[in-house]
Amino acid sequence: DAKRVGKGVVRLFDESMDEGVRVRRGIEGGLKQAIDRGELSLEFQPIVSRDRIEVVGFEALVRWNTSDFGPISPSTFIPIAEESNLIHELGDWVLANALTELAAWPGQYVSVNFSPRQFRRTNFVGHITQAVLAAGIEPSQLQIEITETAIFDDSDRAAETLYKLRQMGFRIALDDFGTGYSSLYNIRKFALDSLKIDRSFIDGMGRERESAAIVHSIIHLGRALGLEIIAEGVETEAQVQALRIAGASHLQGFYFSHPVPADVARDMAVARFATDDREEEPATGTH
Ligand code: C2E
Ligand code: MG
Ligand code: MG
Ligand code: MG
Repeated sequence: DAKRVGKGVVRLFDESMDEGVRVRRGIEGGLKQAIDRGELSLEFQPIVSRDRIEVVGFEALVRWNTSDFGPISPSTFIPIAEESNLIHELGDWVLANALTELAAWPGQYVSVNFSPRQFRRTNFVGHITQAVLAAGIEPSQLQIEITETAIFDDSDRAAETLYKLRQMGFRIALDDFGTGYSSLYNIRKFALDSLKIDRSFIDGMGRERESAAIVHSIIHLGRALGLEIIAEGVETEAQVQALRIAGASHLQGFYFSHPVPADVARDMAVARFATDDREEEPATGTH
């Protein structure tokens, strides 16, 4: 085996390793030190109400700027963190920092992503409650974003966790809705406040009848179930108009603002994006 034949062979073996595996190892190693090195930060993207185009909350999105390779996308490193316990340390950092920033925009909530492994953590409810108490904020100021995968593997236990979170007063959003296996029928047993329609459907709306039909039916049925509907990835005026007509209650996307640092988000928290008749240009967050 590799150990017996000596160092040279082991190195050769490493070099012939699948590139993906090497990248993964590298990311894992770097991520372990990222917090201590101060390489992580958060950006915030506003979620606006359909009716008055007001900012109701901000989604916190983690950023990792590595000293060696520059920024690495969360779509790359979150799945790697998710495969180990690193996700817990990273998630705790995100939550604590998101809650700290929240103090700067009273009246809005902060929406934090939790991966399936975080959600299934022993005593998740106690953990979140502790963090909120430590930050001195109301549970209703935290929206917990989870995905379909987090709740369907062990759905009885997930339903119980969501119920408890809801009892405590947290807001719960089902993220990337429509991309997994869930239907509006089988989410009915979960205590949810909102559905976030995945941006792939919003993106397809103007081009394919199918996407538009899916968006319409999610909005229609979701609202009938008493859920808020947040449309993700809104990029164009045409999408804004179509979604408002379709009845989405909230919108989020580059059209309103890219994710921005906390101090920029702070200014946005008090600003209106546009008037109802849309005679003004929307704020871009770059002011
Ligand atoms: P997500 O939770 O669905 O977040 C939305 C993603 O869409 C973000 O990408 C955001 O920057 C991007 N986005 C927002 N509006 C638009 C738009 O109009 N057009 C386009 N093309 N994209 C838009 P980001 O920040 O790269 O994050 C990717 C994913 O990484 C997130 O998807 C989430 O699943 C995960 N993630 C990010 N931060 C965290 C975190 O703190 N914890 C965990 N567990 N996951 C995170
Ligand atoms: Mg999200
Ligand atoms: Mg999403
Ligand atoms: Mg997504």
